[in-house]
Amino acid sequence: MNQEEQQAALATIAHEVHACTACSLHRGRTQAVPGDGHPNADIMFVGEAPGFYEDKQGLPFVGASGRYLDELLKMIGLTRQQVFITNIVRCRPPQNRDPLRPEIEACTGYLERQLDVIQPKLVATLGRYSMERFFPGEKISKIHGKSKRIGGRIYYPLFHPAAVLRNPSLKPVMEQDFRKMKQLVDEFDANIPDDTPPEDDPPPKPEQLSLF
Ligand code: SF4
Repeated sequence: MNQEEQQAALATIAHEVHACTACSLHRGRTQAVPGDGHPNADIMFVGEAPGFYEDKQGLPFVGASGRYLDELLKMIGLTRQQVFITNIVRCRPPQNRDPLRPEIEACTGYLERQLDVIQPKLVATLGRYSMERFFPGEKISKIHGKSKRIGGRIYYPLFHPAAVLRNPSLKPVMEQDFRKMKQLVDEFDANIPDDTPPEDDPPPKPEQLSLF
């Protein structure tokens, strides 16, 4: 698929999302938020759900969390036009409540199709709901910044930007995780076998041990 075909395929998915009534969230939305960004992005971010501003504008991460995400991207030399950003559910839950399992399941097909079209090198989950999709049973506080590589793609869990804004002591950790993410993408084409965490240090060489 060339970039033009990718763009067209994403537009088709977006069109379907805008008309979707597959779960009850469609009843309260102003508009659905299919996702936005480069059709051939190396990095695809998957957040939780649209909030107040996203629901109004039809774009992901446009409030305070979005501004913080932009800052983090700038820190690693990227803009949001170079990545793709979507959510695990594409319609705003009432009063911004957490998305429910049936809603996530109803919306998963769109995520799978966007992944098939974009073919990102790395999928970065933002927060625990999208993390659960790729790292079931894990805790975000334990596995953030630890990648796994499956089927030629890196999956990389991050805190949700809103959680970091609520708890600014997490900012240095978030920045470190973003820098590591960029490094993983830059090194993507190195021949790393599946399921080998690329950030693991190699075992020390015997001559290094003799120094101590
Ligand atoms: S959240 Fe997803 S599945 Fe539910 S109505 Fe919106 S687009 Fe459809």
